[in-house]
Amino acid sequence: MQIYWTKINKIIEETSEVKTYLLDCPEGFTWEEGSHTHFALEGFNAGEKPNKSLVRHMSISTLPYENAIGITTRIREKCSEFKMILRDLEVGSEVAIFKTYSNVPLKREDKNIYLLSSGVGLATFRPLVLDYLNRADNVNQINSLNIDSSKEFLFTDIFESVPDKKFTAQFVDNRNDYYEEVKKFAADQDGLFYVVGSDEFVVQNIELLREQGVKPEQIMLDKREQRRAELLSIDLTV
Ligand SMILES: Cc1cc2nc3c(=O)[nH]c(=O)nc-3n(C[C@H](O)[C@H](O)[C@H](O)COP(=O)(O)OP(=O)(O)OC[C@H]3O[C@@H](n4cnc5c(N)ncnc54)[C@H](O)[C@@H]3O)c2cc1C
Repeated sequence: MQIYWTKINKIIEETSEVKTYLLDCPEGFTWEEGSHTHFALEGFNAGEKPNKSLVRHMSISTLPYENAIGITTRIREKCSEFKMILRDLEVGSEVAIFKTYSNVPLKREDKNIYLLSSGVGLATFRPLVLDYLNRADNVNQINSLNIDSSKEFLFTDIFESVPDKKFTAQFVDNRNDYYEEVKKFAADQDGLFYVVGSDEFVVQNIELLREQGVKPEQIMLDKREQRRAELLSIDLTV
């Protein structure tokens, strides 16, 4: 396993609680849209065993052409040790990334795509949308729906509807509106539904989509195959 040590290049205050850390791209490091990585703080591998409290899974919210690895996260006042340390890091601080993989690349299968997210889950979708807006080949259209009860919505420069490019972006701040919109999307029996958020959010969305007749193979999750199968009640042995 290769561990890439790199430096924080810029810190963007996205909202009052959400920050994006832009990291220098280490030589030889590349990734595709929808990727997540292991984001680790100094000292995580100092002992015999890696210190897990200094490591978190994080999506990469940028694309390689932006020349920076974006890590977007919410840091509440009351937070974990990991986020307390992260909050105090400055430009120039060293961090590590390793084991980078995309469970949710943009599927170019001539279908309509629905991106369902909650809060900073939108960070996972930012690169998919950029990729699509730069090159729409074999994607019919993309519709994004994000729920954030803080009402401080993220990436509103990119998540803005562009009818010419068949891209719509909606933000809602309550579950009722959210579920109404998802039901409308689910009427598309051939669409692809990407869901990113907490496990609870993912489970509720799966239930809702399945009730509306959406099939498991239409649902994309940022999970490994085994976990995705469990959540979607798919039997992998068949
Ligand atoms: C594939 C994948 C991709 C991911 N991508 C991202 C991403 O892009 N961005 C992202 O932010 N997360 C992402 N996550 C989730 C991430 O790994 C963390 O689990 C998440 O950010 C929570 O971080 P934390 O555990 O440091 O807790 P925190 O966010 O600090 O806290 C979690 C909750 O616990 C409460 N809490 C924490 N500590 C205390 C305390 N001492 N006292 C009282 N309450 C407390 C907080 O109030 C909060 O409600 C991803 C996860 C996976 C699996």
